[in-house]
Amino acid sequence: MRAVRMTAPGVLEQTEVPVPTAGPGEVLLRVGAVGACHSDLHILDAPAGMFPTPMTLGHEVAGTVDQVGAGVSGWSPGDRTAVYGIIGCGHCRACLRGLEDQCRVVPVGGVGLSRDGGLAEYVVVPASRLLHVGDLDLSQAAPLTDAGLTPYHAIELARPRLRPGTTCVVIGIGGLGHMAVQILVATTAVRIIAVDTSVAALDLASRLGAHEVVRAGPDAVEQIRTLVGPPPDGADVVLDFVGADPTLTTARQVVATGGQLLLVGLAGGTLPVRPVADEPPTVPLETSVVVPFWGTRAELQEVIALGRAGQLHADVQTFPLDRASEAYEALRRGEIHGRAVIMP
Ligand SMILES: [Zn+2]
Ligand SMILES: [Zn+2]
Repeated sequence: MRAVRMTAPGVLEQTEVPVPTAGPGEVLLRVGAVGACHSDLHILDAPAGMFPTPMTLGHEVAGTVDQVGAGVSGWSPGDRTAVYGIIGCGHCRACLRGLEDQCRVVPVGGVGLSRDGGLAEYVVVPASRLLHVGDLDLSQAAPLTDAGLTPYHAIELARPRLRPGTTCVVIGIGGLGHMAVQILVATTAVRIIAVDTSVAALDLASRLGAHEVVRAGPDAVEQIRTLVGPPPDGADVVLDFVGADPTLTTARQVVATGGQLLLVGLAGGTLPVRPVADEPPTVPLETSVVVPFWGTRAELQEVIALGRAGQLHADVQTFPLDRASEAYEALRRGEIHGRAVIMP
């Protein structure tokens, strides 16, 4: 079968590999769709030894059950599924609580992270990772597993503050941010302020229900402050889906005293937290900073329910498998609107 693999750090190649077989407790999926994630670029750019090579990339997967391994019950060939990508150890304190995103033993383990992922015609996954998607289009189901789940999890963490009438600033209306806007619309009564450098992304945010949009730039902080009030007032919650120095600076300058700043994007920026050294403080007093990672299996089931109810729709650009590297190059150049989805 064809597979798109990282054969060495930084090297993405289309190769022929044997169709894998499902071992005990596993399922062989015929891959329908795979989202191309910024994290895949981080995996490609990571130093040697951080991730196994060769490894098939793709951690945002939906497909159809082809074969079930020994001891698997509840799944049959033809079932349409989404894959919960994280594979925790299953027995640490976090995993036992269903928080596999916080596994204490396997910090970043999963499909396309520590074993072969979905950028191939077939992939083997543990049966415990599968969730039914009903008649949801697989090109929609795949992005729900990360581009949908990651913002959903971040919003869940912020939910006690997201009371009716509060304000949430969403920075970065890309693959995750455009899903965040819809999740906020569907599950809260907050005022949503979308921030992005791209006018097209801001138009998308408005169409999806953002109440205000602000173009990122030198006067973005002032513009947001006119909407949310100057310090010590501000936004109750700020979701930063970029995580670069400029977006983190904006985030900490507009979050309210006692608010919450969630750093989701992996652009590698620095957030200084120095409460008394500066006036005004680098991060407002009583503000909580959270660094969410992906989400839980239970949350994915809820994300799929939103998708099936028509309340969460990924804006996708599809590519065939042999154009996967083109999708990643476009992603790296910032030219993908919404989510790039590769259809093996
Ligand atoms: Zn991802
Ligand atoms: Zn664990």
